[in-house]
Amino acid sequence: MKIYEKAPAKINLLLDVLRKRQDGYHEVEMIMTMVDLADRLEMEELGRDAIIISSQAGYIPLDEKNLAFQAARLIKERYDVRKGVYIHLDKKIPVAAGLAGGSSDAAAALRGLNRLWKLNIPTSELCRLGAELGSDVPFCVTGGTALATGRGEVLQHIDNPPQCWVVLAKPPINVSTADVYGRFRADEVRRHPSLSGMMNAIKQGSLHGVCSELGNVLEDVTLSLYPQVMQLKESMQRLGADGVLMSGSGPTVFGLVSKEAKLARIYNGLRGFCKEVYVVRMLT
Ligand code: ATP
Repeated sequence: MKIYEKAPAKINLLLDVLRKRQDGYHEVEMIMTMVDLADRLEMEELGRDAIIISSQAGYIPLDEKNLAFQAARLIKERYDVRKGVYIHLDKKIPVAAGLAGGSSDAAAALRGLNRLWKLNIPTSELCRLGAELGSDVPFCVTGGTALATGRGEVLQHIDNPPQCWVVLAKPPINVSTADVYGRFRADEVRRHPSLSGMMNAIKQGSLHGVCSELGNVLEDVTLSLYPQVMQLKESMQRLGADGVLMSGSGPTVFGLVSKEAKLARIYNGLRGFCKEVYVVRMLT
């Protein structure tokens, strides 16, 4: 039997870092939602007890460093599954982009293997397992829109933001999340985004409100390291996006756009200097 799972990309409408914790993680407040740009996982039982990963993408690890491999190994160990699985990753989400591609693949593997092996693991437990693989994995297990606190693994689901177009542009640089957090200094943050402002805007279904409350304190770090990310933000604003922000630790910049008529101009304008541009919808 073959099963399929979609692994969508996430964007952060708000990302605030409160402090560095004793355990080395950062205490965060994030509002995350999914967009309709997704990897696709195909999972099939193997005749022997092994985990095999394949992908058409030549630039991701296919061994135990792959997060989908780690998800499969974790579920096998915890639930004493003595079966093997073949997982094919059809990658569509750019890698090391701030879109949680690896985390979403891990979450999709957890959901898919739960079905393939008929384990009946409740979602809350899949989230707990996911937290062992990465801070964004629990959110990727559930999807929707959530306020994520703690190191990102404590989730409170909220209303979806108003539907709109999302333009994603990834400049040709790979950013390490660990490096950006390593350079981040909580006491140097110039302006913290307003969590209550964003929560209210979402509750009221106001896209204008959501666009004006967008904020990500990691921009200070990534934009100073990579000026081209700043240029990309400015271009997207100039081309007419209603709200613009860097996602996660970057370097992907997203623009929220309410009017379809604006999309061609924004897309074509960005493609002039950025090869990877995607026009998608929020996944709501
Ligand atoms: P986040 O926003 O959660 O920090 P990201 O979008 O910045 O994630 P990923 O695309 O998840 O970054 O990739 C980060 C690293 O993880 C890459 O260096 C890649 O080699 C590794 N990796 C492991 N498994 C995967 C996977 N299934 N897909 C993509 N990258 C993976």
